[in-house]
Amino acid sequence: MFGNKAARIQALTEEKEILFQSLEEGVLIVDEEMIITDVSRSTVHLLKVQKRELIGKRVSSCLQPDLKALLDKIEYLLETCQQTGIPMTDSILIEEKRKIYLELMAIPKNSSQGAILLFQDKSSHYKVVEMGKDFVANASHELKTPITIIKGFAETLQDIGDLPKEIYLDIIEKIVRNCQRMEKLVKNLLTLADLESLPFSRFEACDLKALLTSCKEMEEALHPQAHFRIECPHEDVFVLADVDLLELAIINLIENAVKYSKGPAQIDLIVESHEGEICLQIKDQGMGIPEEALEHIFDRFYTVNKAYARRLGGAGLGLSIVKNIIEKHQGRITAASVLGEGTTFSLNLPRQELED
Ligand code: ADP
Repeated sequence: MFGNKAARIQALTEEKEILFQSLEEGVLIVDEEMIITDVSRSTVHLLKVQKRELIGKRVSSCLQPDLKALLDKIEYLLETCQQTGIPMTDSILIEEKRKIYLELMAIPKNSSQGAILLFQDKSSHYKVVEMGKDFVANASHELKTPITIIKGFAETLQDIGDLPKEIYLDIIEKIVRNCQRMEKLVKNLLTLADLESLPFSRFEACDLKALLTSCKEMEEALHPQAHFRIECPHEDVFVLADVDLLELAIINLIENAVKYSKGPAQIDLIVESHEGEICLQIKDQGMGIPEEALEHIFDRFYTVNKAYARRLGGAGLGLSIVKNIIEKHQGRITAASVLGEGTTFSLNLPRQELED
């Protein structure tokens, strides 16, 4: 009978150990003297030490100096929760560079003396929150500038009733331009928000050549001096797409090609069909992008030259929208550029095979 019980206890202990070691949360257990009695595998991984270097020591005495702030906090939480008998929680950002953000919870043991510390790595959540904060700050800043300009000019009109006609028209033109800038920014922000919850039902087989032709016609009407050329030797080039969004991405790239070309723009839209994949290149002979900027151009609110982009009505959201759209289509986008010679954006999209 005792043999059975011993075996059950043994099995339970093993199960507990397996569970304990497979926990994603870091666990660290101390006795009433604040001596570590056990740690989970995640703890060892996070603190970057061997388990044997932890067991039997005080938290603060056994670890690297770069984790001192964390260790002090852990010790404080474990001690306080034992003294007060209630769980204690806190959070800490360690390793400023890699941004490891931990949430800590110290719980006093009821049955015996000592306490348990749980810690969760919330770095990815923290990064999302930080990105959100940056995004709101950038968006507010971009909106604030035109609002300030509009307010300033509107007040001038209000205060000085009798302005010469040309000054009056100049002020009105600036107000309208800044309203357009704000309108574009808000539209871009709404597009970015919509892209987060894109329903798959809007995807359909899309004839890429026909779509490019319609984009070309639209752009020719807007920019009569620019030259557009489509090179698509294949018929029946189809991709699975949300046609409105794919059109928006292509138009954004063409608009940039026109915007960043000095003089009449020359824009080539080249389609190549590969095994299972289509490559669309949008090529201009404009001012080009400096090499060091190429890796940032798809970041939200990034502009190579802020003042120049603003003058052209841009806030650095266009390419991040394009990238987002292309990725929603299971594709990828890259850019190659030679300063002073031009830029080529390449979109690779899965080819849609049509059934007969
Ligand atoms: P913006 O609305 O300011 O143009 P984008 O996100 O569309 O923002 O582009 C980011 C930056 O990349 C631009 O500020 C510009 O400096 C650069 N860029 C984009 N497309 C081109 C291009 N075809 N030629 C040269 N520079 C470009």
